[in-house]
Order: sequence, then C-alpha cells, then structure tokens
Amino acid sequence: MARPRNCRWVEILPNVTYFKPRGIPLSALQEVILTVDEFEALRLADLEGLYQEQAAEKMRVSRQTFGRIIESAHRKVADALIQGKALKIEGGEFEMAETRRFRCADCQHTWELPYGTGRPESCPSCKSINIHRADGVRGTKGSGRGQRRGCLRP
Ligand SMILES: [Zn+2]
Repeated sequence: MARPRNCRWVEILPNVTYFKPRGIPLSALQEVILTVDEFEALRLADLEGLYQEQAAEKMRVSRQTFGRIIESAHRKVADALIQGKALKIEGGEFEMAETRRFRCADCQHTWELPYGTGRPESCPSCKSINIHRADGVRGTKGSGRGQRRGCLRP
C-alpha cells in the first residue's frame, strides 16, 4: 500500500467553516478557500504558539512542508481580511490524528484530546473531576480521508 504523498495529521476540525464580511451581497462576494490542513497549521503556530518544528512534528510533515502550509494559510487569511472576501474552510490533504475521548459523569459533556497530551484534570464544561474515558466512539466527526492508515513516518 502506497503512503499518501501529502499526509498531514489534523487534530481538530473547524467548528465554523464559513466567514463572510457583513453587508456584501453574495453575488459580489469572492471566496478564499482555506484547506483544513492550513487551518490546523494556523491553529498550531498562531493560536497555540508552537515553534514550526513542533507544529510540523504534530502534523507529521517536514519543517519545510509546514513552512509552506503556514505561509499559504497566512496569505489566504490576509487576502480575505484585506480584500473583504469570504473565507471558506474545506478540503485539503489530511488525516484525522488519533484522539482519546472523555466523558463527564456529571454534565454528560464529551470531548476529545489528542494522544500525548495527558489526562485532563477536570471537565472543561462544568469543572467536575468526575470524568471517564469514553473510547470506542472514535471517528464520529466524519471527515478527512478516513483512518490514519498509511500515515506513519517512513
Ligand atoms: Zn461536566
């Protein structure tokens, strides 16, 4: 089985996938498409503040590849903001990274964390410490290219 050429691991899918400037009619609106891997690069580098080496490691790509992804992402976001275009997040070459799922016994909130981040101390919703692993329901977000098959480093 061939390894996908551009296998980029993504931990979190966007909750909001469309941003639109106010007051511009749809017919006059131009769209910029930001791919999910570019979105993930922005999240890791600009929101979490990781160094590019660390972010590249998380996405399972080379530092050079990460540099290209983040550069493209920055250019697209700047284009949308400055030119007043809509921003749509979709597509791209990526696989969902494996996650662990937790459930709060008090408020029933469930959430996922990537492997290697340690066990959470409390429920992010109600702060209860009565939390449990809730695995076996993985992959319910339905996206990416299916499983992480073939996504290992050479
Ligand atoms: Zn809770």
